[in-house]
Amino acid sequence: MNDEWFSKLKEFDSLTNMRSRLLGQINEQNKRLDILNLKRQEKEQGINAAVKDLHEIQQTYHETEKKLNTSEQQANRLKDTGAAEEKIRPYIQEAQRCETQMFELLEKIDHQEKEIEESRTFLKGLEKTSQEIKLEADTEIETHQNEVIQLNKRLDLIKEELPSEFKTALEKTLQKKLAIGPFTRTDQSHCYFCRYKISRTEESEIDIQKLLKHCPQCTRIFLPYGC
Ligand SMILES: [Zn+2]
Repeated sequence: MNDEWFSKLKEFDSLTNMRSRLLGQINEQNKRLDILNLKRQEKEQGINAAVKDLHEIQQTYHETEKKLNTSEQQANRLKDTGAAEEKIRPYIQEAQRCETQMFELLEKIDHQEKEIEESRTFLKGLEKTSQEIKLEADTEIETHQNEVIQLNKRLDLIKEELPSEFKTALEKTLQKKLAIGPFTRTDQSHCYFCRYKISRTEESEIDIQKLLKHCPQCTRIFLPYGC
């Protein structure tokens, strides 16, 4: 006579498992989106840092160019006034040093600009892929969320359909939020989950007479065999 209520508990159990799976899938999709966002942020930060470096190199280039001009002007001025060779030489050497440095800086600027360009192209691709994945993930999340809502309704309904003894037992056990759910079975005179030893009499009360019983140790509700 308790068969019907136990089969409702069994249904409750399988719907709860289904809900856990759906919530897990929602979680997975959210994680997937988080990873993508993080990847994009990192790339953006990398580009910003590279642009900042580029500006610094350009700044150094302009400063070196100024030094070069000053040295050349100074050298020319000294030449015009007929100054001695050894007085002019340091300015010419400084101008040459500046020229070499500017050449190196130009190479650096060129390299940096290419890297930024490549990163920007990569980021554009990443954003396009992200948008596609987000669309797909959002659709899946929404579908699963709706399924969870339907499952919750069905679970509430099952609880309402149960006689008070079963309903109270279920609610009390659910409150404990036990891992892998509120139900267990007998397994060779033991609780399947916590291995608590139960007597032959109790085992028969559970599986043959189909009485509502809890495991004395882990407090899970026994579902009789065949239910
Ligand atoms: Zn147990």
